[in-house]
Order: sequence, then C-alpha cells, then structure tokens
Amino acid sequence: MKFESVIGLEVHAQLKTKTKVFCNCSTRFGAPPNTHTCPVCLGMPGVLPVLNRKVADYAVRMGIATNCNIASESRFARKNYFYPDLPKGYQISQYEMPLAQKGYIDIENNGEKERIGITRIHIEEDAGKLNHDPNLPVSMVDFNRTGVPLIEIVSEPDIRTPEQAGAYLRKLRSILRYLDICDGNMEEGSFRCDANVSVMPKGSETFGTRAELKNLNSFKHVEKAIAFEIERQKEIIGDGGKVVQETRLWDPVKNVTTSMRSKEEAHDYRYFPDPDLLPLVISDEWIQSVKASLPELPDQKKERFVSEYGLPSLDAEVLTSARELADYFEACVRIFPQPKPVSNWVMGALLGLLNAEGKSIEDSPISPANLAELLKLIADNVISGKIAKTVFDEMAKSGKPPKAIVEEKGLVQVTDTAAIEAVVDTVIARHPKEAEDYRGGKDKVLGFFVGQIMKETKGKANPQIVNQILKERLGRG
Ligand code: ADP
Ligand code: MG
Ligand code: ZN
Repeated sequence: MKFESVIGLEVHAQLKTKTKVFCNCSTRFGAPPNTHTCPVCLGMPGVLPVLNRKVADYAVRMGIATNCNIASESRFARKNYFYPDLPKGYQISQYEMPLAQKGYIDIENNGEKERIGITRIHIEEDAGKLNHDPNLPVSMVDFNRTGVPLIEIVSEPDIRTPEQAGAYLRKLRSILRYLDICDGNMEEGSFRCDANVSVMPKGSETFGTRAELKNLNSFKHVEKAIAFEIERQKEIIGDGGKVVQETRLWDPVKNVTTSMRSKEEAHDYRYFPDPDLLPLVISDEWIQSVKASLPELPDQKKERFVSEYGLPSLDAEVLTSARELADYFEACVRIFPQPKPVSNWVMGALLGLLNAEGKSIEDSPISPANLAELLKLIADNVISGKIAKTVFDEMAKSGKPPKAIVEEKGLVQVTDTAAIEAVVDTVIARHPKEAEDYRGGKDKVLGFFVGQIMKETKGKANPQIVNQILKERLGRG
C-alpha cells in the first residue's frame, strides 16, 4: 500500500517585550527564581490583568506578515487546568475569537515553491517552570516565566514531508526574527513546536488519525521525530492495525516517539471567555500603521537580491534566511561590488566557518570590510584564490585585516615572469619522463607540472602565467 503523510504544526513563539503580557513584571531570562513576580502573575485573588499593548502590536505584526486576516475584535479566554506551574488554575489564551486567521507563508523546498496555510495566530501567556533537582525530595517552581507573552501559530495540515516541516519552521522563525518580535531560540524555548502527524492511503480524501508529538527542541529533532512517526504509523496500518489518537514524546537519545497520554486522558479545558479582560479591538488605523512600518521581509528581500544583484535564487534564499546575514552580504557588496563572488565566499567559506564554530553571523570573527578587502586582493591579482583561503583562515583566527596578513606572511602572488620561468625550467629538468609524455600528447601531465610548480612556490605563483610558460617551455604553447 502507498501512503501519504499529513503534518500540521503548532508553534509557540515568545514575544520580545520588556514586560509580561498582563502585568509590569520583567520578562528578562535568567533572574533568580520568583524575583520577577507580582500579585497579578501569581494569580492572587482580587487582582486584574491589563493587556500589554506591545503584545497586541507584535501579534498584529506577525498576523500581517503571514497574510492573515486580523480580527477587528478578538477575545481572551480561560483555559482551565491544574498544574503546579500555573498559579491561577487557568491560562489566559484566545479560543473562539483569535486575533488572526486564514493566512499563509511560502516556503522553498528542494527548489520548489510551496504555500502552507496558517489556520490562526492567537495571544496567550506562558506558564511557570518546574525544576526537578534529583538531589532534593521536592520539585521547585519558578514563576518568573509565568505571564511571559506568547503567540501560538497553528498551521493547516498542508505539510507532507519532514523536510517541508523543517522548511516551514525555518521560514516562520526567519519572519519572526525579521520583525524583531521573537529571538527564535529553539534550544532555550523561545520558539517551540508540537507536530501533528498522520498517514493515509495515497490519494485518500480523509485524513488518518493523528498523533501529536512533543519535546522537539531543535529543527533536526522535529524532522527526525516526524520521519520516525510516519514510519511507525505506516507499519501499524500496513499490519492491519489502527493508529490511536494520542500525545507522544520524542526521545532524542533513543530516536523514537513513545506514548505520553491517550485522547481519553486528554484534558477538557472548559474554555470560557475571561470576564476580567475587555475584547481586544484592533482599529483599521492600527492595521494600516503596522503595514506601513513592516520591514522588508525574507521573500521580498530574496526577490530584490535576485533582481538587484543578479544572484541565483538559491544564493538569494540562503543569504536572506536571516536579516543579519543579508546585511553582512550587502555591507560587503557596497565595498566590493561583485555580488556573485561575495555570495560564493559568504555562503562557502564564511558560513562553513561559522557552522563549524557554532557561531552566528553577528559573532563573525571576520568583518564585512575585511572579507571585501580580501576579495579585492584576489581581483587585483595580489593573491591567488588558493592563497586567499589561507588568508581567510588566518583572519578567522586573528581577526587581522587581510593586507596585514599577506604582508606579514609574504603571501603576495608571484607574477614576475622571469622568476616563474626559472622555477618552470627547474621542475621540467627534474621530470624529463613526464615532459616527454606531455610532448607525446598526454595532456593530463600538465596538471602534474602545475602542481609541482605551485608546491615549489608555496602556492604563490600566478596560475595563468604558470600555465602559459609551461606550455611554451614544453613546446606546445
Ligand atoms: P488541538 O487543539 O487538539 O491540537 P487543532 O485543531 O488546534 O487541535 O489542530 C492542531 C494541529 O493539528 C493543526 O496544525 C492541524 O493542522 C493539525 N491537524 C489536524 N488534523 C490532522 C491530521 N489528521 N493529521 C495531521 N495533522 C492534523
Ligand atoms: Mg494541539
Ligand atoms: Zn507580574
């Protein structure tokens, strides 16, 4: 039997406001436990929540950036459940009347453009954090995170493969970061994802029963967990069994998902409108002013990189994946206006270096000015492309400007014809047999000679001149 998988993602993004969603407590991460709390976020009786306007504004931004309809009036609701990290006994969220609905984002996956629907975006508050210290007979609760603003972004079940899910999440995170409303750190939990996964016979009209996967702390884990879950469900159905609707936990050590709770054990949240909060009214003027103030978003920037710099779509996609990376590229191009070579070095050597060191572009040890200067040295024939890589590695270590490194290490390219001729003659004299072979028509031997000469000159000889002189000297110029 052939199967088709169906995936829908629920993303929680923590908003970068200074204060919490319904009180004035700080949202700063890493403070001593329970120091960022007040009667409101601790759920004391008799207190009233007041909505942080910035939270609404950020949520509207994301709604517009993902092509949603913004509700002129939305409502807050209480989601009731008991857990030690939730002092009020309910979480303030939005339920029947969310802030934003019916949007979409476009993703690029294997060079193909695909559109993924956004069902809804709503505002809610975060819960506290339980700390289970194995050396203590009790668990400790920290309410600093209680009331930190989140938006939940729910996708349509439009996703079909783990790779698509990854591409969707990366794009969503990129948009949030372009908007500067969420730092998008999956490991630290400011960008969290649950994945709903089901399988059905290929071409079927009705979806299969889904499992909801939790504990996905990185893009890699999201993709691996979904891939595992698809195979697990296919096997069950292939064996004539039935998938049960349940919540499953990803185990990143064993690389499997295991059952956490079944649908029967699922909570009944008894949602109802929160009587303490007024409906959230978003005026047309508000929407218009947000629209007017949106920055250039990833898709627009990508299009501009293709049209303005003549870059291939793939280059533009990579370079615009983060705003800081795009800025870095443009800073280089302003100094060294040859976009494709700049793109090659940024996407190749620079991203390679940053990945290897686990750094982001903001922490690049090589400044845009220094990278641009390096490319200029190549273009001016001061150094060869090969030596440039050596200089690049040195820049990564010391942060010194490339010119200083080239001078210090004596890496200037040899273009002096007489000097190169001397080396060519020595090398040919040392390898008479290979010279004979070449003269006899074995073209490949030329590469051997070039290699020998480069070795002799420590890579500093200008390759074009070497080639030209070699051919002359070997009598086939
Ligand atoms: P819940 O609140 O129980 O999680 P929702 O209706 O909010 O339910 O749906 C959550 C997510 O599940 C959405 O992203 C939706 O696209 C996805 N989804 C719904 N049905 C399926 C299915 N059969 N297979 C895969 N994903 C699904
Ligand atoms: Mg859910
Ligand atoms: Zn508070």
